[in-house]
Amino acid sequence: MADTENIAVNVYFVGTGPGDPELITVKGMRLLKDADLVIYAGSLVREKVLEYCEKGPVIRNSASMSLEEITSLMVEAARQGKKVVRLHTGDPSLYGALREQADILEREGVAYGIVPGVSSAFASAAALKRELTLPGVTQTVIFTRVEGRTPVPEKERLSKLASHGATICIFLSIAMIDDVVRELAEGYSMDTPVAVVYRASWEDEKIVKGSLADIAAKVKTSGISRQAMIIVGRAIGDLPGDNSKLYDALFSHGFRE
Ligand code: SAH
Repeated sequence: MADTENIAVNVYFVGTGPGDPELITVKGMRLLKDADLVIYAGSLVREKVLEYCEKGPVIRNSASMSLEEITSLMVEAARQGKKVVRLHTGDPSLYGALREQADILEREGVAYGIVPGVSSAFASAAALKRELTLPGVTQTVIFTRVEGRTPVPEKERLSKLASHGATICIFLSIAMIDDVVRELAEGYSMDTPVAVVYRASWEDEKIVKGSLADIAAKVKTSGISRQAMIIVGRAIGDLPGDNSKLYDALFSHGFRE
């Protein structure tokens, strides 16, 4: 933002990545090294990344804190010239409750920056060894969730999103796998591939693959009930798609005549 360009930024929201401590960005790691105050959600963020800290920062677990408590800690520290890092899982722009914190900082006139991270959606695709946008199948990826305590607009019900045949990454919904399948079945055929990745990139990562017809039963047998990504769509199946035009010898474009 032009109006904050020359102001020293002391507060960073940092995407920690999906779990493997090596999947934080170099920039995120450097900010942790230098931090005086680190705030993270204990139940979600991988605590191992805290080992990157080198200045013996104050480390606070936000799990039991209110929004106001979290932001006033950040504001106070920033005003004292301290370097603050607020860790988010994956990428902060997805289901991170980022905006409500950022809005308060803006209201208080505290400059902040955001460092992106590897979303669990991408770590899950990597675990599956699949490309989410497969030529000839789909060129669209949808990030969504089913309704829990946070409402989801009616127009975005899975049954409606399903009609596009895109790849859908479903966050925060594994405990409601039966509802997920019921809604998806309104738009996808029952043989559509579905994969569930539990703790992508962690040591105990688990993958369950199936179709819309059998995934719910397989998930129950596996015992997975949290920290899992559901990915649906033909792109993650075994059907070969058309090869990408990028490497097609007959297709010339700006970079390769
Ligand atoms: N901002 C995060 C998402 C936070 S919401 C991101 O970009 O990944 C939390 C949800 O993300 C979980 O319910 C789960 O659906 C998913 N999730 C987080 N970490 C995960 C992981 N390592 N493997 C699979 N799913 C994960």
